[in-house]
Amino acid sequence: MIGALEAGGTKCVCAMFTEEGELIERVSIPTQTPEQSIPAMIAFFKQYPQMRALGIGSFGPIGVNESLDNYGYITTTPKAGWQNFNFVGVFKDEFNVPIAWTTDVNAAAYGEMMQGAAQGLKNVVYLTVGTGIGGGFVVDGNIVSGYGHPESGHILIRRHQDDTFKGTCPYHNDCLEGMAAGPAIEARWGKKGVELEASHPAWAMEAEYIAQALYNYYVILGSEKFILGGGVMKQRQLFPMIQQRFVELNNGYLEIPAIETFIVPPALEDNAGITGCFELAKKLIEAE
Ligand code: ADP
Ligand code: ZN
Repeated sequence: MIGALEAGGTKCVCAMFTEEGELIERVSIPTQTPEQSIPAMIAFFKQYPQMRALGIGSFGPIGVNESLDNYGYITTTPKAGWQNFNFVGVFKDEFNVPIAWTTDVNAAAYGEMMQGAAQGLKNVVYLTVGTGIGGGFVVDGNIVSGYGHPESGHILIRRHQDDTFKGTCPYHNDCLEGMAAGPAIEARWGKKGVELEASHPAWAMEAEYIAQALYNYYVILGSEKFILGGGVMKQRQLFPMIQQRFVELNNGYLEIPAIETFIVPPALEDNAGITGCFELAKKLIEAE
């Protein structure tokens, strides 16, 4: 059996799979403090002594570099109680199995590549546009990770010509996240995104920022598929707008795949992350 754990800011999903990928059980545990939430997660996995590997995808920032002391930790999160929390260490103490560890969005990108919208491809970006903006990147079949993991929500972008909004990022003001995450939309227009009609100018602005971000990622990584998830992307009218702006920004420079199948919603919907955690853990067993 293979365990999977997707740790999010509001809930942690724990799941057990057979090695063939069949779901055995899945539970959702509210993300309170580690003292409150971690014992329930451990209890879930303890039910399955047959577990051979565990994959964890976590909200961040997290330490992903095995040569650094903060490997396996959630590091500087604003989330109360989780700063400098040794997530992998706690699970290593309880379970004598290999543990895969990455960001929630990297796990989602990997899950979509293995079982979702990007099957058969090796260069995949998963971007979530929700309370924050975060990107997961797979290049040549492997998750991108260097000294740290990508912080692609904080790239610097050009302002839309009609946009005077200061931006919400406490560090950069008008980085991508500061201009285009859900809270930025709400602060700019005085209404939650879900309350803005599909024809509202908010969406052209939103599409502009997201298209710029994807284009920046594209010229660096040459990705084969962009998968966009998170609450804001429930505004499905954004997809054709982003696709069109992406083509315009490219202006014929690089060859790009058919745009309608290039920038798409997640095929696994809310299961992308947990699927990726399973697949990453499975890969550890196969490497043994
Ligand atoms: P989180 O990022 O916290 O995991 P979500 O991905 O649901 O959760 O993102 C929440 C953000 O997305 C909020 O800012 C919310 O206003 C926005 N949001 C959620 N649903 C919609 C929607 N249908 N349309 C536009 N914005 C939405
Ligand atoms: Zn920022």
